[in-house]
Formats: sequence, C-alpha cells, structure tokens
Amino acid sequence: MQIHTSGTEMRQQLQAWRLQGERIALVPTMGNLHAGHLQLVQRAKASAERVVVSIFVNPLQFEPGSDYAEYPRTLQADQQQLQQRGVDLLFVPTVEALYPNGLAGLAQLTKVVVPELSDILCGEFRPGHFVGVTTVVCKLLNWVQPDVAVFGQKDYQQLLLIRKMVADLNLPVHILSEPIVREADGLAMSSRNQYLSAEQRPVAAQIYAELSRLVAQLPADWMNQAAHLQQARHHLQQAGFQLDYCELREAQTLQPLTASCRQGIVLIAARLGRTRLIDNQIVVI
Ligand code: AMP
Repeated sequence: MQIHTSGTEMRQQLQAWRLQGERIALVPTMGNLHAGHLQLVQRAKASAERVVVSIFVNPLQFEPGSDYAEYPRTLQADQQQLQQRGVDLLFVPTVEALYPNGLAGLAQLTKVVVPELSDILCGEFRPGHFVGVTTVVCKLLNWVQPDVAVFGQKDYQQLLLIRKMVADLNLPVHILSEPIVREADGLAMSSRNQYLSAEQRPVAAQIYAELSRLVAQLPADWMNQAAHLQQARHHLQQAGFQLDYCELREAQTLQPLTASCRQGIVLIAARLGRTRLIDNQIVVI
C-alpha cells in the first residue's frame, strides 16, 4: 500500500493507474477505523480496480468548542487494517496540504455551500459543520478524481448533501452508499463511541432501541406519529440523553413528510454527557 501526504505526488500514481485503464474508488474518512469504515472499503474494492482511502481529521468541520483536538488519531493501526484489506493507496494529507494558508486562513478560504439542506437537523445544532464537510469532500474528490466514492448511511444528511453537491457542480463521480454497521446491542459504530464511560455505554444503545420501536410502530399507527415521536423523545430524555432532535422526515429531501410520501426516515441526534451520537432508520409506509 502506498502512502502519500502530498496530493501532487499521489496524482502521478493515480494517473499511471488511469492510463492502464483502471478505475479508482475513494473512501474518505477521518481515521480511527472500525468495521463501518471497512465495509465502505470492501464496497470500494468491489466497485473499482484501485482503492484509495483518505484519512484526514478536517478542522473545518469541527465547530468551535467541539472535539477536534481530542478526536482519536490512530494512524498506525488504521494503516495496518487498510493494508490487510488490500487498499492500494492511503492519502494522509497534512492540514497545510489541503488548506495552504493553514487554520489561520480558513476564514478566507473558498467554500462549497449546499444551501438549506446544510442548515436543518444536524446543521442547526452544528453551525458551519456541513460547509466544512462539503468543502473538504469536494477538495478530496478534486485531488483523487475517483470514478466512485463510497459513504456511509450513518451520516445520512451528509450523504444527501454530497449527492446534491456532486449533482449541482457536475462532478464526474458516482456516489455509492453502505448501510450502518452496528455493535451487537445495536449502537451504530462510531469513533466517538470510545468517549462513552462504562456506565454510559449500555445506555447509548437506547437510541437504536427507540429507532427500532418507532420504525415498527409508525407504519401501523400512522395517524399517531407525533405521539410516537414524542414518546421516543421522552424515553431518551428519561434515559439521560440531551436530545438535539428526534424527527421523522421524507427520506430523499429531509423535509417534513407529505401525504404522498412512501419512504420516511427517523433521525436521532442526542448527547450523552459530552458524546454526541447520531443514528437513523428508513421507514417504509
Ligand atoms: P468518519 O471517519 O466518521 O468521517 O466516517 C467516514 C465514513 O464512514 C463516512 O462516510 C461515514 O458515514 C462512514 N461510517 C462511519 N460510521 C459508520 C457505520 N457505523 N456504518 C457505516 N458507515 C459508517
């Protein structure tokens, strides 16, 4: 597995592969890899001859006061896992490689903004977060110019934003997505789960329990959806969560459901102590 910290150097290798007629798949990550990330890698391997994984803890998507400094960085272990899975190239840019004027220059940086969709749900509680995400993903797509890029449905709003950015800017890449990989008790795998204390860890699985209950109840008792959502919010608060949102939305737009909609999605974002957890499940009506 090749490892590149410079985009220019990486491009020479990518160009050689392209000249051989090989397609390239990109899996963008922030590292601290778990089975959720590795599932994306597997999909990438099945979708192209060459797989590039990027690891970059993107300062632009951490809102002030959040966990940028303490975000787990485990490059050696990540490298080993990717090598074992036959990844061809690991791109680990420095902050300066992606943001030439460094952190001090971020305010002046040209950014990619997907309006409206960036401002609702997680966007409301993490101002600036999605602009950071779309900007860095656009930059990574430009560096690698992959044929396909693979993202997880765990970050469902992020996935929709990236699809919209790619469509709106005519970026020549095909976006693929993979389902949420969970722990045995249903907790969605996340690098942030390790912030949870031993007491908090079993409580965290309540998010999945509430999601599953809602997804089972809603189609059968559609008229009472507001009451079911309210009950889920109440249960989570009782369990000790500080709730950002627990909402039922239209799955393609994340707008409130209309009468004709057949595919909804329940999305939850909640804080347990200092740990922010997100999860979602599709509900078919
Ligand atoms: P991150 O490293 O958290 O930025 O995530 C990198 C990619 O992995 C994103 O596309 C995430 O949606 C995806 N991902 C993270 N956790 C999971 C999971 N539990 N299941 C599936 N995909 C995931």
